[in-house]
Formats: sequence, C-alpha cells, structure tokens
Amino acid sequence: MEKVMLVAARKEIADVTPYVAGKPIEEVQRELKLDRVIKLASNENPYGCSRLATEAVERELSQISLYPEASGPMLLQKLANRFGLESGNVILGAGSDELIRLLTRAFNSTGDEAIMADVTFPRYETNVTIEGGVPVTIPLIEGVHNLEGMLAAVTEKTKIMFVCNPNNPTGTIVGKAALLAFIENVPKHIMIVVDEAYCEYVEDSEYLDTVPLLSEFPNLVILRTFSKIYGLAALRVGYALAHPTIVRNLHKVRDSFNTSRLSQAAALAALDDEDFVTTCRQKNKTERAYLQNELDAAGLRYFPSHGNFIMVHFPDHTGDDIFQRLLRQGIIVRPGNLLGYPQTVRVTIGDSEQNQAFIAALRNILNGNDQQ
Ligand SMILES: *Cc1c(COP(=O)(O)O)cnc(C)c1O
Repeated sequence: MEKVMLVAARKEIADVTPYVAGKPIEEVQRELKLDRVIKLASNENPYGCSRLATEAVERELSQISLYPEASGPMLLQKLANRFGLESGNVILGAGSDELIRLLTRAFNSTGDEAIMADVTFPRYETNVTIEGGVPVTIPLIEGVHNLEGMLAAVTEKTKIMFVCNPNNPTGTIVGKAALLAFIENVPKHIMIVVDEAYCEYVEDSEYLDTVPLLSEFPNLVILRTFSKIYGLAALRVGYALAHPTIVRNLHKVRDSFNTSRLSQAAALAALDDEDFVTTCRQKNKTERAYLQNELDAAGLRYFPSHGNFIMVHFPDHTGDDIFQRLLRQGIIVRPGNLLGYPQTVRVTIGDSEQNQAFIAALRNILNGNDQQ
C-alpha cells in the first residue's frame, strides 16, 4: 500500500480517549430488538423537566433564526439574584462540561499540575491533559475524597484542585468542616473547583453551602448544571459562580454563542418552578431508599449516595458482566470498569417502575435465571 503522510495531532492528546457516553436507548433497541429499554446510565431526570421550561422553548422556537444574546444576561441576572451575587460572578456554559474545559483552557498552562480524586468525573483529567497539564490523582477513601491527601499533594506546580461534591460516580459527599478547612488551607494562588452537579438532591446537614464563601475566597469556582435535577440535559446549559476576574478570563476563551436561545429560555423558566425541583428531590429520596433496601436484602454493598445514582459493588461479578446481563433484559446501567471500579455498576435512580424493573432484572442475574 502506498504510504500516506498523516497530519500529526498535538502530542498532548495522543493518549486521550473520547468520552464514552452512556449507551443510548435507540441503539440498544436496534441491536437487541427489545421493545422496552430503560436507561439508568447517565443520571438523567426520570421525571422529565418543568412544563414551564418546555413552554418557554416552544415560545422561543419562532426566534431560532436569530443568534441569542451571547452571554445570556437575563439568566445571569436571575442566577445572581438567587444567590445574592452580582451578574459578573456568573458565566453560562454548554453544560458544566464546557465550563470545565474553559477553566483548564484559561488557567492550566503546560506542565501545571491539577489535583483530583481517583475516581471522579473523568472530564477534569481529560481537559487538564489536553492543555498539557499534569493530572495528579489521589485515591478516594471508602468512596469519599481524601481532602487531606489532596492538600498534601500540592506542589509549586499545582494550579487547580477539583472537588466533585457529591462525587460522581460514588455519590458520596465530603464533610462540611473538612471541605471548609480544605478551602481555607489551599494556597490562594491555586484555583479550587467544586463541581456541584447534584447539589439540588442533597439534604444532608453535613453538606457545605459554598456560595457564601465566594466573597472570601477569590480562588473558589462553583459549577452547577441544568442537566440533572432540572431535567434539561439535551439543551446543554450549566453555570459557574466565581470571582469576576475568573469569569472575565473564562469569557475570553468561550465560543461566541455557547448557549442557545432555547437553552437560555428553558433555564430561565425552569428557575421559576421550585415545586418541580422539590418534587424530584422527594421522589428521588423515596426511590433511593427503595433501591438501597432491595440492595441490602440482596446482600449487596454500595456507597451511601446523596445524588440520583448509586454505585453498587458485586463481590462475584465484574461490572461489565452485570452491565451486559442487565442490557439483555433491557436495562442500561454504567459499568464501573469504565469509571475505575471494575466490580461495580453505577445505576441512576429512576422512577418507581424503572427501579422495580432494575431490581427484578438484578435478581434474575443473582439467581442465575437470566441465562436461558
Ligand atoms: C453530569 C455532570 C456534569 C456535567 O453535566 P452537563 O450536562 O455538561 O452540565 C458535570 N459534573 C458532574 C460531576 C456530572 O455528573
């Protein structure tokens, strides 16, 4: 064969793997010819989103030939008011995923170190690597961030520290006093990113409210999203709360129109429906208790979850085996080997019917009744 000259990619991305998303329902239906497929793989909201949000999207549809207001000033102001901040403290992203990318783009230079947990949300490591930074990973203890270990790993090269609270994939939170001490002890020239994608689900009194700390800690960045409890994952909108100087630097590296008219309109409306959020939080709590009871009854261990997902440990199976065998029964979960825990799966807490179907399918596997 003729030798072709290939265009060389940046060496920083040689070992980066594209994000492996949860398997889509449509794909599983096609491949396995199943009528009913339940997706409990991506921590989506099983109750959909607020009607106010869908109505706002419908109204906005007549405007989609026009670019949106680039920074989403109405939504910025509404978020700022809600948190007692100025709109200069807030920036929108195409999901908080994009904000992680903007943070590393703007702040992580080649050779800078970023400290994060092992295992946590994989986008921190990927984006640090893309920017030529060095991810430094500190193992979780019993599924919980080892904040003291992370502090001990600080060197003169450290630039960013990531704390995912609740942590994806384990669902655990860090203690209030421990996180406060951590934020106080991180040197002021190092950025602390607290990713709170699931904060609206948390009811534990040990959960630290980080927003009031922003005025005192100009190195603190809080990430939130409309993808989880607000149920707007497809519209791609999240936000960061931070010191105005950080926000200004993020604006420099974002795409011109990173959120759309539809996403801005939906998020604005969703903020007016507190009842929807409260109902989802309550239902999630009830369903989490149901799942945890059933797992207890099956003798399975799991990390105590504060979010809308549970990481379950299987002493006698690989996570991939459980994943495949659930899949054949029409249930998509997330195998832990993709997330760094080979003998686990992460299951999103669905609605009552979905959870019962999951438990029934799981029982089939544990009894060996699924392999005809
Ligand atoms: C889902 C998730 C996000 C990002 O979601 P977006 O849809 O990009 O807003 C960020 N962090 C964690 C920990 C998540 O689980």
